[in-house]
Amino acid sequence: MINNVKTIDDILWVLISAILVFIMQAGFMALETGLSRAKNSINVAIKNITDFIFSVAAFWLIGYGIMFGKSFHGVLGFTDFFTSFEDDTWKAAFFVFQAVFVGTAATIDSGVVAERAKFSTYLIMSFVTSAIIYPVFGHWAWGGLFYEDQAGWLQKLGFLDFAGSSVVHSIGGWVGLAGAIVIGPRNGRFAADGTPQKIPGHNIVFAYLGTFILFFGWFGFNAGSTLEADFAVAHIILNTMISASFGGITAMFLSMFLGKSKLPEPEMIINGIIAGLVGITAGCAYVKTPAALVIGVGSGMAVYYGTLFLEKKGVDDVVSAVPVHAFSGVWGTLATGLFLKESFLKEFGITRIEALAVQGVGVLVCFVWGFGLSWLIMKAIKKHIPIRVSLEHEKMGLNISEHGSSSSILELSESMRKIIETTKIGKVHKLESEIGTEIGDLTNCFNIMVDRLKEKEEIAEKALESLKYLSITDGLTKVFNKKYISEYLEDELKRSARYGRKTSIILFDIDFFKSVNDSYGHQMGDLVLIRCAETIKNSLRDSDLIGRYGGEEFLLILPETELTSAYHLADRLREEISLLKWEFDTKRIITISGGVVENVGEKASKMIGRADELLYVAKDKGRNRIEK
Ligand code: GH3
Ligand code: MG
Ligand code: MG
Repeated sequence: MINNVKTIDDILWVLISAILVFIMQAGFMALETGLSRAKNSINVAIKNITDFIFSVAAFWLIGYGIMFGKSFHGVLGFTDFFTSFEDDTWKAAFFVFQAVFVGTAATIDSGVVAERAKFSTYLIMSFVTSAIIYPVFGHWAWGGLFYEDQAGWLQKLGFLDFAGSSVVHSIGGWVGLAGAIVIGPRNGRFAADGTPQKIPGHNIVFAYLGTFILFFGWFGFNAGSTLEADFAVAHIILNTMISASFGGITAMFLSMFLGKSKLPEPEMIINGIIAGLVGITAGCAYVKTPAALVIGVGSGMAVYYGTLFLEKKGVDDVVSAVPVHAFSGVWGTLATGLFLKESFLKEFGITRIEALAVQGVGVLVCFVWGFGLSWLIMKAIKKHIPIRVSLEHEKMGLNISEHGSSSSILELSESMRKIIETTKIGKVHKLESEIGTEIGDLTNCFNIMVDRLKEKEEIAEKALESLKYLSITDGLTKVFNKKYISEYLEDELKRSARYGRKTSIILFDIDFFKSVNDSYGHQMGDLVLIRCAETIKNSLRDSDLIGRYGGEEFLLILPETELTSAYHLADRLREEISLLKWEFDTKRIITISGGVVENVGEKASKMIGRADELLYVAKDKGRNRIEK
């Protein structure tokens, strides 16, 4: 039998309710985005909207047929896959209403596994939830909602879940819990010893706006589940309001009296409200208003203690969606049996104990199916593809790593991080600044600060360069100083030894230099030193080095040069110097003597010593000559 005796009022009511339920997606988006960090906000928002479109697709293709198609022994629906609906207006309205429901179930997971789940894995889970996990349990509990004689097995047992505390919320919550366990907690959520560390959301006001939207949409969620324009909707909306309010009040007071801060915790208040909404969802049409109050209080407790319980177990649920949807869903479903109006007990012909027992069975089956299957699927996916982002990407934030999108505040913090990490400010880029916003002002200040730092860095770099130059250069002759040339020779000899190369050195000394000073003055002596150094330097190859080794002594290092070539070079230099003309006395000839040696595997000082000995031989033999 098809339940198609619907009036236009019924159809409009269900469609209006569907539209209200649809806007809950925006509520979830704002709630979850606000409760996560800015660097992941775009990713959370994208997940919230894409899970909806994937859910609708999966539900139309597969899920709807399984859930509401003609039943195979109350286990699975097997008709109505990718239906075209033709001119069946009621069926179309019914599908729309059910599609926004599955969207709600699928989106719950996104909050639990936010900030680390990979986008691709998340979409697979959304699809599987909407195509299989949700519709199968949905068929068991609600299979006869469209074809009245096609009830699922739980429904036949008398299981009551009016608008889906279990069917929608617990299923969503259990899928989320499996995800949180298999994916693991966010980096930093628990210290090494397991102590929980709070990771605050970046926009609590936005989360509050989301809660308002959810509250608003929930009136359609619960009251639309009448599936007809019925007087019952007034009491359903009333019960929804009462339970949500007492859920929020309870969670708020619990956080004030038992929480660490002894203050009304912002997250607890909204989670209490949503838990109250979840809790009353199963029984909103079946219980009296005072019972709605008790259900709200119980939901507030479920969320408060549930959050603590998960923390203790090391499960990271970013928005507390598991306590809100799964735990409060369990409580609400059981409470429906507990507080079921007498009139309904009579109508269904059952005792309260029986009602409670059936609710218990439904809750248990919901857990085993929802958690068990999604856990198995997640484990299977994990074997083949990564289900969470890399640690590096998690630190960077999923906005950038998963979608390539950033935000001003993220770019700002990224640049600041670069400054901390790099030693060079010059490499830090200036940021595009927004006009007329607080972030824009902050970015401008940052850019100015970077400019100032860059100027200072440049000055410091120049100072460092000249300091380095001064530390290795001889002040008078501008060739290397003794310390540097000696160290260089040490290194060069090591290199030569390693590669089996020849290195020669020349030690020059100006002849009768004292008499230059004595005859023409110290300044002229200086001039001679400068010009001799310059002359020698200009005749050297790039790889050769000259340093001032003593008062009027110069040491030359000639890498990859054997003794004979070094000797010829030394002699040529000797000749060049002897041909120089001197302004202070055009007749004066200045000469140099030198000792040349080739490396034989000894240390630098030993090698210089040998060159010095040869230099003395040259002096002894009459100067202006080179000895090897
Ligand atoms: P020899 O041919 O034996 O090398 O005789 P010399 O006179 O060159 O040697 P001696 O060691 O007697 O004198 C070197 C002189 O060099 C002594 C010192 O005053 C002078 N001298 C050392 N450093 C400087 C300097 O920086 N500037 C000037 N103008 N003279 C210097
Ligand atoms: Mg001398
Ligand atoms: Mg000397």
